[in-house]
Amino acid sequence: MQSHSALRVVGDHPDAIDLEEAERAAARFLKALGISTHTDGLQNTPRRMAQAYAELFTAAPFDLTTFPNDERYDELVLARGIPVRSVCEHHLLPFVGVAHVGYLPRERILGLSKLARVVGHFAARPQVQERLTKQVAGWLEQSLAPAGVGVVIEAEHTCMTVRGVRAAGSTTVTSALLGTLRADARSRQEFFALAGTGPGARS
Ligand code: ZN
Repeated sequence: MQSHSALRVVGDHPDAIDLEEAERAAARFLKALGISTHTDGLQNTPRRMAQAYAELFTAAPFDLTTFPNDERYDELVLARGIPVRSVCEHHLLPFVGVAHVGYLPRERILGLSKLARVVGHFAARPQVQERLTKQVAGWLEQSLAPAGVGVVIEAEHTCMTVRGVRAAGSTTVTSALLGTLRADARSRQEFFALAGTGPGARS
């Protein structure tokens, strides 16, 4: 077994969260928007807002242990449909969707549930989808030194669907491919076909 410390296992600065100050700021924020918090329904809203964002910005801790690839398994390992929820850093509105995360193992492998944990870790901060996609791929490459990595994220951004252009139902797809999955057309096609997304996946 070998542990990696390259990734902090709890949200980046969990100790820096000051819920009481966030609650006061949320109350001021609502007031500045002309929203009274003196009704029954809204009196606890600033506290709920503070807690909701604190939750979105805190990742569950997880163990980053990787294992030797004793079975010499060298085909694609793919976790499909991992739920993604994050917050866009431009509007601080949520974006939600799914991630498909795969790699072609070499010397080291990772527990399957950890692929979802890695996504959750990088999602627990103000993000842009492109960077989130690359961070997940980059972490896998660094930690496992695999032959290839593929990450696809499909998400609906509420800053696009409930405001602005109001493109309800539209999703944004981003992908990051590294190593063999980038260089070799057949591996790439296999990855997209198994992930059920990307070029040629939809009629
Ligand atoms: Zn946005």
